[in-house]
Amino acid sequence: MRINMPEAVSMIIKRLLDAGYEAYSVGGCVRDALLSRVPYDWDITTSATPDKVKEIFHRTVDTGIKHGTVTVLVRSESFEVTTYRVDGKYLDGRHPESVSFTRSLTEDLLRRDFTINAMAYNDESGLVDPYGGERDLAARIIRCVGDPVARFGEDALRMLRAIRFAACLSFTIEDATMAAIKELAASISAVSAERICAELCKLLTSDRPELISLLYDTGLSEYVMPQLNGVFEGSLKNDMLAALSRSKPDKVVRWSILTHFTGSAREIMRSLKFDNKTTDAVCMLTARSDASYISISRADLKRDMAVLGTELLPAWFDYLDALHGEGFSASLREESSDIIEKGECFLMSRLAVTGKDVLGLGCPAGILVGKVLGEVLDKVIEDPSLNDREKLLPLTKKILSSVI
Ligand code: ATP
Ligand code: MG
Repeated sequence: MRINMPEAVSMIIKRLLDAGYEAYSVGGCVRDALLSRVPYDWDITTSATPDKVKEIFHRTVDTGIKHGTVTVLVRSESFEVTTYRVDGKYLDGRHPESVSFTRSLTEDLLRRDFTINAMAYNDESGLVDPYGGERDLAARIIRCVGDPVARFGEDALRMLRAIRFAACLSFTIEDATMAAIKELAASISAVSAERICAELCKLLTSDRPELISLLYDTGLSEYVMPQLNGVFEGSLKNDMLAALSRSKPDKVVRWSILTHFTGSAREIMRSLKFDNKTTDAVCMLTARSDASYISISRADLKRDMAVLGTELLPAWFDYLDALHGEGFSASLREESSDIIEKGECFLMSRLAVTGKDVLGLGCPAGILVGKVLGEVLDKVIEDPSLNDREKLLPLTKKILSSVI
């Protein structure tokens, strides 16, 4: 068994070995390499204590030194090097009370969540796999290392990670692991909204977004997104899962689909502590779900384009296609491209008259300026040929006189 590691990782491992320590790549990168997937990052585990790691490498950052993690910088890249560690007692269902270092790789691997994440590798020793990770990778199974009830009891986030890995890798969750999630589902409340959100995003943007159903099957949804239960207990469950499966793996698109079915988009996004930009984007799409968009007028399309902005347009079309069937938005896509190509104005900032012009026509400063420009824009959206200074100034004057 040989895994191709990036040169920098091999170099870090070699330097640690040459200094008389053990060192391996470990966890997700070994799993992904064995699956012929490109690892997101390469983590290194070593018998050297953080002090020694810092002596051996010149450029380091104390990222998580309390937990034994030192970041080693190699050129413009960074790698986490973590000392073999055993976690102390978990008191809050999320964080170990203490960590202590160990000389044993097998012990370090024992603290890891799933068998497929509990393998280590270096060129000298090959694969180190004391808990059957390779077997479970071949069988495409997510299985806890050790007793699942104990492991989820230590850290409730692992329950969501299990479901997320099942979705990202298209694996199934082993029976005892699944039963333990059902048993301990309520303890997910100990996990912060940000961590829950990060896992749900990975789950939802995976190849198997329909495995969101595992949240309901395990009882986790009641605690992480209670609105989901209504969908699973109602008649739209299959519509939602089908729409998710056929949609593009985009965060805004998939969250919009989900919250289209659950309702309460803003409330859900806020409770999961999403950033405002994502929240607003999702709310703007869910407000534009209707199948009647197929027959929208060109002028109304421009009004929607003004609100969504060109950046969100592709996501909106993908969203509509997922809800109403492939190709649904074809004519909208075409028409919006045509509008953009022809340079038709649908934004106030692109009008041939400005706020200054409105003031020059005698409008008092204040909100009235925006109101006048808004009405001018509306006319221009209806008739693009009006967006010409010569034509627009008299029209602006007329609109102004009608509002003051
Ligand atoms: P990815 O980076 O693709 O999300 P990963 O497996 O690399 O997946 P990380 O969160 O980067 O996940 O963690 C790296 C490794 O640390 C995991 O493979 C696992 O061995 C261990 N690990 C991470 N989180 C936990 C946890 N909550 N409980 C136990 N072990 C964990
Ligand atoms: Mg990782």
